[in-house]
Amino acid sequence: MDALLFFFLENMALIIALMYLGLRAKEALLIDLTNPIRDMWMIALFVSFLTFSIMYNAFPFEGMRLDLREVPIYFISFAGGWQFGILSAIFPIAYRGYMGGPTVMLGIIQAIILPIIIGSLFHDRKTIGKPIILLNLRRMMLGFFVFETIKSVWMLVTTPATPLIILAMFLFATIAVLSMALILNGENRNLILRKELEFYSNQDPMTHLPNIRFFKNNINRLVAQKEPLAIVMLDVDYFKVYNDTHGHQKGDAVLRSIAQIMKDSTRKTDFVARYGGEEFIICLADPENAHEALRMAESVRQNIEDFHFEGEALQPEGKLTVSMGISFSDGHKPLDHLIEEADNALYQSKRQGRNRVTIFQAAAS
Ligand code: GH3
Ligand code: MG
Ligand code: MG
Repeated sequence: MDALLFFFLENMALIIALMYLGLRAKEALLIDLTNPIRDMWMIALFVSFLTFSIMYNAFPFEGMRLDLREVPIYFISFAGGWQFGILSAIFPIAYRGYMGGPTVMLGIIQAIILPIIIGSLFHDRKTIGKPIILLNLRRMMLGFFVFETIKSVWMLVTTPATPLIILAMFLFATIAVLSMALILNGENRNLILRKELEFYSNQDPMTHLPNIRFFKNNINRLVAQKEPLAIVMLDVDYFKVYNDTHGHQKGDAVLRSIAQIMKDSTRKTDFVARYGGEEFIICLADPENAHEALRMAESVRQNIEDFHFEGEALQPEGKLTVSMGISFSDGHKPLDHLIEEADNALYQSKRQGRNRVTIFQAAAS
């Protein structure tokens, strides 16, 4: 009996260790989880291997082969549904058939088919198609208790296994399946947190536009590829007046509206971001020439001029407007240099009366 207890303990430890290694491998191999069919096969292959490694060294007891093979099979059927369960079971079923013995059919039905049925019955359909899921532990354990109870009674009635053996299997299988879920949930909770952190560290919380850090990271990549692009700097005209007249809350709403107009007036391939304060930056991707960039920036400016902002009649010009500066690159200027040029051009727009777009020209600076 001691040997049997130790054997189940080893089985449990093997499941937990392989689960941990499997998740590490998943992180290294399919970090993006964008190919559901490939991922399904990889996961099924891994569960098959895990089940096989448990079955390979089963404990012989009066003609039976005892092990905890039902644990990974139940786990995958609960987490992924019956398709995952069946795919993962093909190899273990073949192996059990090959091993032979008087309890072949019993072994297959009891420890492979039954956990697939019960696991899939308890499988949470809301998680289908989601690459990062958090398992509902209570639901999973309830399903597992149902399965283990059926299996235990079945074993007690149809096999020579003693109640103590059956109880030990129940106990170690429960710890093993719970450990698998805890490892997966811990891993996925970290992934979710990491994604959230990434999202919020790249975004300006007020306008929901990308922030300047994210902008620079992305555009530096385009610059490195020597792609032609134009950088547009945009500054709200007399914004201090607007804030002083209507308050900062209304000022914030104006910045949010401007952010939306900028997004609506540019193409998907352009990149709009908040530079800071009441200044924004746009990268116009692949403009044919400086005049094409000027035309695109001009349409953004016009759309902002045409938009009706609350209380804009009290602005010095009777409407809320923006000034812009553009710097054009045929692919050979560093980003910081382009931003500086666009800023100079913006300053010229301000000096020449605001509500206009100016292209940076080296001689004019
Ligand atoms: P100019 O036409 O020369 O650009 O005049 P301006 O008044 O816009 O320029 P100035 O730089 O003097 O003022 C910018 C103002 O923008 C001051 C600041 O209070 C306001 N501002 C900066 N960031 C925010 C923000 O997030 N929300 C609000 N409501 N106001 C902001
Ligand atoms: Mg400013
Ligand atoms: Mg301003």
